[in-house]
Amino acid sequence: MKEMTIKDLTEILKEKNVKPSLQRLKILEFLLQAHNHPTVDEIYSSLTKDIPTLSKTTVYNTLNIFIEAGLLKVVNIENTESRYDAIPEEHGHFKCRECGKIYDFHFDMNLIDSQVPSGFIVSEKDVFFKGVCKECLNKK
Ligand SMILES: [Zn+2]
Ligand SMILES: [Zn+2]
Repeated sequence: MKEMTIKDLTEILKEKNVKPSLQRLKILEFLLQAHNHPTVDEIYSSLTKDIPTLSKTTVYNTLNIFIEAGLLKVVNIENTESRYDAIPEEHGHFKCRECGKIYDFHFDMNLIDSQVPSGFIVSEKDVFFKGVCKECLNKK
């Protein structure tokens, strides 16, 4: 992922009609750089050193604004906690049951379309696989 400047980030928010406050810019920057599908707690604890005035409520509210603006998706792999994904392209997820990591992989979502019963309209597509990742397999 290429380095994002504050100017780039401001543009992204403006394009979606989101007011670019410093906290929002910081949260967006973090989400675009962290490709590990962070939870709210992870986002909050990573940014609170940088922004001591940040509250968890602000993080929640900001994430909801981003979701409504289409900048962010909630990844519901486990129903215990929401994880957030700011990668704009459609992609599949693979959760490793050993290390718990969630990997992104390229997936052609058009493949799904041909499987949808006729007369149905799809509004969301998710592809999840669970198993053991390469790293964990190599450790054995
Ligand atoms: Zn693993
Ligand atoms: Zn992802």
